[in-house]
Amino acid sequence: MRVLPGAVLGVLGGGQLGRMFVAAAQRMGYQIAVLDPAADNPTGRSADYSICADYDDEAALGRLADQCVAITTEFENIPAASLRQLSERRAVTPDARSVSIAQNRVLEKQFLRDNGFAIAPFAVIQQPSDHADETITCLLPGILKVSQFGYDGKGQKSVNHQADLTAAYAQLSHPICVLEKFMPLQREISVVVARGSDGEIKSFPVAENQHVNGILDISIVPARIPPALAQQAQAVACRVAERLNYQGVLCVEFFVVQDDELLVNEIAPRPHNSGHYSIDACITSQFEQQVRTLCNLPLGETTQHSAAVMVNLMGELWQNGTPDWNVILQCTTAKLHLYEKTDARPGRKMGHFTVLGTDVDEALQQAILIKKQLQRH
Ligand code: ADP
Ligand code: MG
Repeated sequence: MRVLPGAVLGVLGGGQLGRMFVAAAQRMGYQIAVLDPAADNPTGRSADYSICADYDDEAALGRLADQCVAITTEFENIPAASLRQLSERRAVTPDARSVSIAQNRVLEKQFLRDNGFAIAPFAVIQQPSDHADETITCLLPGILKVSQFGYDGKGQKSVNHQADLTAAYAQLSHPICVLEKFMPLQREISVVVARGSDGEIKSFPVAENQHVNGILDISIVPARIPPALAQQAQAVACRVAERLNYQGVLCVEFFVVQDDELLVNEIAPRPHNSGHYSIDACITSQFEQQVRTLCNLPLGETTQHSAAVMVNLMGELWQNGTPDWNVILQCTTAKLHLYEKTDARPGRKMGHFTVLGTDVDEALQQAILIKKQLQRH
């Protein structure tokens, strides 16, 4: 059944993704309640109602279900049990099973491998000494990643020699890790897709992503790759959503390796940082698509009307005080987005800006110029 404007929607998690979901939903006339353990959070600053509670607080989840007709999540580490509890009373998208796969690197890789998606070679590490030497050596040099709660390159250690594995495992101090072979990357790309309850599916254009220290720095859209490769990435992303029987917005991150081979890196059961450009550059944004899938509305067109380059504004930029926003504001094709986070720590995503253009080279040049000017202050 369609949930129409005027209804109260719920969101689990109070970060910037929730905040941008609120903006899309409120524009359409919905009201929003957010549940987050922190009293002051970027989503709560613009939501209609806030519940400050842990994600596994059954009474608080009950209050959220009392208040909302349909509930989504912006944070991928919501306990699956909480999503199940809510789904007994309300429409919840994405579903607990999809989220529990996407939030656990071991389940995620097994799901991808078992469904025939190409991924980087890996081994599950629970006891570094359990594995035959050959199993480990063919994954070196590699990256050891914690199975849960890693993000923005956190919870990862490079392992260059067999002897380093035990130390890296001890340093990560997480019982279950994944050792993944280090892949020589030509590029990184990602595709956001939205899938409705009736199986209708729409993909956004492919984003080309540049990371710094494991954190997304710049997304260039459309990606500078051959059209056939872009279509293949979109088709794979749609197939991942279909195999999960997914409802909601999903992002699939890819590595492009030698000879334009595509490997799925990871999946996120929510809108994604690399899809923020869609707010300013597409007919429908990834956040409006999240509202539409949650409310059983038809999906919006995802056509991109302007080339776009999105740049993250990280906490480092605040080291000499508030950055000079005039640098962005005086550019007539740039869109500034700030998340109202009060504590500008290094490595923290504080906002982003998107530069629009007639082609990506023009937008990229302008974006890099703005980025340099911001860093100079
Ligand atoms: P996170 O959850 O932190 O985004 P990822 O697994 O996506 O974790 O890793 C973050 C970044 O680190 C990737 O976008 C990529 O730049 C780099 N990286 C991760 N795994 C590999 C790999 N196997 N080979 C080469 N680079 C990698
Ligand atoms: Mg990633």
